Amino acid sequence: PSITRGITVDIPKVTWKDIGGLKDLKKKLEQAVEWPMKHAATFSRLGITPVRGILLHGPPGCSKTTLAKAAANAANVPFFSLSGAELFSMYVGEGEGLLRNTFRKARLAGKSIIFFDEADVVAGKRGDGSSGGAVVGERLLSTLLTEMDGLEEAKGVLVLAATNRPYAIDAALMRPGRFDLVLYVPPPDLEGRFEILNVHTSKMNLGSDVDLRRLAEDTELFTGAELKGLCNEAGIVALRENIHASVVCDRHFQIVKNSLKPALTTEEID
Ligand code: ATP
Repeated sequence: PSITRGITVDIPKVTWKDIGGLKDLKKKLEQAVEWPMKHAATFSRLGITPVRGILLHGPPGCSKTTLAKAAANAANVPFFSLSGAELFSMYVGEGEGLLRNTFRKARLAGKSIIFFDEADVVAGKRGDGSSGGAVVGERLLSTLLTEMDGLEEAKGVLVLAATNRPYAIDAALMRPGRFDLVLYVPPPDLEGRFEILNVHTSKMNLGSDVDLRRLAEDTELFTGAELKGLCNEAGIVALRENIHASVVCDRHFQIVKNSLKPALTTEEID
């Protein structure tokens, strides 16, 4: 962790290379996050306004959080994390306090990223939900709007939000100067699954019978998180079979794969 004026902040360690697939998406994020952070002078010389907020949406476990962290790593800026569900569950006033405090820390840090997970819980359409919860949600949402608008002067703070329910996001957040860029993070395709399996087996000693290309073909509908779990579980099966095991073989992967049922359904793809 580096110290910025008394605040301990972390620059995430995860890099673009740790994320399999999503080549175009990584390029777009690089342009929207890294360029303004690293070449602020060029942006102002050319009179270009960088995006202030990016909304990542897509099914769970498909790397929204990891992408946000990798973007912070690439831009070499601190990463502040907020969870919509956590803010929502706090006592009245406490959630708003944490929200304001996080924005304050980010402004103090200068160039930085605020990542807002499960954004729909807080940034949901006004008028949704039951009476008690709706009041809490509205107060949090109006705090978020105030803080995002206040970023105008504080150069270099970028807000990345993630949601599985983009249609539930309040329209006020989609106005210019707020979430200007909306990116869909899809479940991995064949090539993506192959790359993800490579990422998560890179530190494993694989048996010569392991064919990751075939495994990628056989894991349609698996998310990145499920593929990561598959690799890890296969290692555990090998260990359980023999505590002195030194390789993870195809049969270990097969045992785990056959016991898993992906959470995604075909309708959720596209
Ligand atoms: P949620 O909506 O549940 O918060 P998410 O989309 O933010 O999920 P992550 O938390 O980034 O997903 O991913 C979950 C785990 O799956 C991470 O540990 C990550 O390493 C792994 N993972 C997901 N997608 C990929 C990918 N494309 N390449 C490598 N690992 C991945």
